[in-house]
Amino acid sequence: AFVGQTTDAATGTASIIVNSEGQNVIVIVPGANLLLNFEDLKRASDVICKAKVVVCQLEITPAVSLEALKIARASGVKTLFNPAPALADLDPQFYTYSDIFCCNETEAEILTGIPVGSLEDAEKVGHMLVERGCKIVIVTLGAEGCMMISAEEPIPKHVPAGKVRAVDTTGAGDSFVGALAFYLAHYPKLPMEEMIRKSNCVASVSVQASGTQSSYPYRKDLPQDLF
Ligand code: ADP
Repeated sequence: AFVGQTTDAATGTASIIVNSEGQNVIVIVPGANLLLNFEDLKRASDVICKAKVVVCQLEITPAVSLEALKIARASGVKTLFNPAPALADLDPQFYTYSDIFCCNETEAEILTGIPVGSLEDAEKVGHMLVERGCKIVIVTLGAEGCMMISAEEPIPKHVPAGKVRAVDTTGAGDSFVGALAFYLAHYPKLPMEEMIRKSNCVASVSVQASGTQSSYPYRKDLPQDLF
């Protein structure tokens, strides 16, 4: 209901190069994404306030994403934020308005200055990000799954992903975040670790096919014990 067309800019695009190991480099040309503004947000605010979960990231103007998180929080809606593409000078309010802050290794490094090459590094950056004000930090670690760091539980939890043959990991992070949003909305009572385990399963299916959206599985093609 809130998607529109403009003649003022081209559709946002991302050119993606994938190597033989399935790793990628992405050049984003945001185009019309950057025209989404506070007026558009205001028009959608009733829907945001009634949502079970609101997901934001940084492919639109960051201030608009932040305002969406604030609108959601004011109505008690769960907020899930993915700082992608990462900004070194991210507004610190993003941390305080994120119930769940989910970043990959590169994003974690840009935000903290600490390269993430091990599970210990992931714990360290996770703690730093929790200290900035989010309730739960999830650092996605590609084939290693995720590290969860929570403000309430002092011990970080590594949730491994299943072993699969990755052909193209492009979009794996979005697949993970989308799956997590689904579990938060539909199975809010599941323990967070279980939601992460299931989201790892969904994302690990997406890395076994090429493309981004085209690699995302339909519900019917997933193991039914995920539901
Ligand atoms: P991004 O796409 O943002 O770089 P990651 O590479 O960390 O994100 O991947 C996100 C999630 O996708 C991981 O937490 C994991 O669940 C899944 N995943 C990614 N790569 C693999 C892989 N090689 N094998 C299994 N699962 C993977």
